[in-house]
Order: sequence, then structure tokens, then C-alpha cells
Amino acid sequence: MHFSLKTRHSNFKKIVYSSSMNKQDISSIKQLLSTEKKIVIVPHKNPDGDAIGSTLGLYHYLLKGNHQVRVIVPNDYPSFLKWIPGEDTILKHDTQTVKSNTLIENADIIFTLDFNAFHRTGNMETVLAESEAIKIMIDHHQSPDDYAKFMFSDVSMSSTCEMIYHFIDMLEDTKAIDANIATCLYVGIMTDTGSFRFAATTSKTHEIVAKLIAKGANNSEIHNNVYDTNSYQRLQLLGCALRNLKVIPELRTAYISLSQEELYTYDYKKGDTEGVVNYALSLNNIIFAAIFIEDTKEGIIKISLRSKGDFSVNEFSRAHFNGGGHTNAAGGKSDLSLKDTIEKFISILSSYNKALNNE
Ligand code: 5GP
Ligand code: MN
Repeated sequence: MHFSLKTRHSNFKKIVYSSSMNKQDISSIKQLLSTEKKIVIVPHKNPDGDAIGSTLGLYHYLLKGNHQVRVIVPNDYPSFLKWIPGEDTILKHDTQTVKSNTLIENADIIFTLDFNAFHRTGNMETVLAESEAIKIMIDHHQSPDDYAKFMFSDVSMSSTCEMIYHFIDMLEDTKAIDANIATCLYVGIMTDTGSFRFAATTSKTHEIVAKLIAKGANNSEIHNNVYDTNSYQRLQLLGCALRNLKVIPELRTAYISLSQEELYTYDYKKGDTEGVVNYALSLNNIIFAAIFIEDTKEGIIKISLRSKGDFSVNEFSRAHFNGGGHTNAAGGKSDLSLKDTIEKFISILSSYNKALNNE
């Protein structure tokens, strides 16, 4: 099935999204993968559960076809993902640059997963753009760039991990899914759906998850590894974030801030703030939530936005904070100070009064 979506902004190019790849693309990819290939798989910068789960799930699958396969990530990822099967084989581009670039330059095929534009890989942008490898994009973010020879882009999908399952299914090869692949894909579906509760979770998502459990994904163990391995300091940081929570009830908005000093105080580690924005969104009658996190090393304020219903944080972030993502979950950044960023956010908000109250 193919369908096209026109975005509301005329400066965005019209792009064809497909809920599956066409038959011709699938048979070309089958043909490509029928002989040994050098393959690199890349997710976005600051990889999350879906990015690591999808790249490693595809990695284990392609290894069965006797290909030479490596997952290369732009930079490090949270420790609660450092148990996923195959995780110890991942190359980090920021600290293993020469080796990573050589693999990318010599690759026959590059799969780009869970992102929609090369700049989302940070410093890998140039080497990816200049590579002559065949690019295959599998992604569920809005407004994808048009760099890939084969594109499987579907914004209705819960996660890239769910799409990897569909991809293997399109190759008529789900029998190849073993416990390792199932475990990787379960991680990303679980994290991107907020444990199967966000709106993008469908009956099909649950069907796939049931199959993954049947193939050997240990659901209880996976939840424990990802969610129940907090440090004491991380919970103290959460306490600090919750004390900083501000509510603007008339605009159905809540936001949290964390300064660099607060992050230092609670010994911040990568991933410690993941999911904190959802506490703001959990407030009764709130449909828009934000978290502003100061990063003095990068010289930016990192912003995470979440919403419920039709209010598009993707569009909000694209319009004001140099970012993007999905309708209900997006990221962005600001070059202003933490205080000025929050002031800017509040001053913009009032022009969204109607959209926020028409829910
Ligand atoms: P998070 O707030 O968890 O960092 O990101 C929420 C969603 O928005 C994720 O799907 C993420 O990939 C996407 N996202 C985060 N930051 C950016 C950004 O700066 N630009 C774009 N286009 N997407 C982003
Ligand atoms: Mn994702």
C-alpha cells in the first residue's frame, strides 16, 4: 500500500510515505543480499532504545546471510542499553573515527535506521553523504530527506524496531528471527511506545510483540534491565527535576528545567534524564510538556517535547527550536541561556492558546 501525505508547510517537499516497500524494491534488496556484502548500519546521535535495538536486530539478521556487518553509532548510549545482545561489537564514531570511516568508505550497503536526515548523525554527516554505498533507510520520523536508494518510511509506525520486523517479513524470512533478534526488537518497541501505551501502539504492534516473545524475547527480564537498574543519584536527579516542575494550567502546559550545576550535583550520566519529561505530561489536564536541559559542553539547551492528541510537537520544534520528530514526541535545541530559552518558550506559547485548548 502506498499513500502520500502533504505537510501543512509549503516549504516542506511533498514526500511519498509507504507502509511497506514496493515489490520491485523488495526483490532488488533480496537480490542484493543474495551475495556476501560489506554492510554498515547507522542510527542517530545519542542513540536510544529504538536506535540500538533496531540496528542490533538488523545486525543479527544480516549476519545469518554471511555478510560482513558492523553497527556504527555516532556516540555513546546509556548504560541501561549496555546488555543487549551484540552491544559489545558496536563501534563508536566519535572515539573510533578512523576505523569507522574506513568501514563506511568501503561499505557496499549502508542501512540508516531511526533517523530521517544525515545531520541527525552529528559528525558522521559528511562521511555518510560522501559514501557511494547503496543507502537503505528504515525510519518512522516525519519529513525524511531523499538520500536513500531504498526507502521504508512510515510515520504511523510505533518504532523502527517494529519496521525491522516488517522488513524481515517482507523478505519472507521471519523464520530467521531468533532469541537475539527478538530481544533487540522488543527493546525498541518497548522503549518507543512507553511500554506499549503511546498512541502509535496498534494491535499489529502487540501481534509482533507476541511473536517476539514466542521467539525467545524474555519480556520481564528486558523490562528489568532497562527500567530497574537506576542508580540512587539518578532518582535524586529525578527528585530535583520534579521540584523544578512548573505548570501553566490555562495553556495546559507543564515544563521542567535542569541546569548544568544540578546535573553535576547528582552525578549525571548519559540517559539519566530519559523519560523525565513524561512526568510533566502525566499531570491531569496537561497535554503539552517540555524539559530544558543545560549542556555547557555543547553550548546548547537540549529540549524534549511531548504532547497528547493532535498538538504537533514536531511542528512546534521545527518552527521554534531547530528540531523535529513525531507528532507527540520531538526534540530540539536552543543557543540561548537556560533562562532565556524558557522565556522564549513561554512567550511563544500564548500564540498556541487555541490549539492547546481545542483538544
Ligand atoms: P527525545 O526528546 O527523546 O530526544 O526525542 C524525541 C523524538 O524526537 C525522537 O524520535 C528523536 O529521534 C526526535 N528528535 C530528538 N531531537 C531531535 C532533533 O534535534 N531533530 C529532529 N529532527 N528530531 C529530533
Ligand atoms: Mn524510534
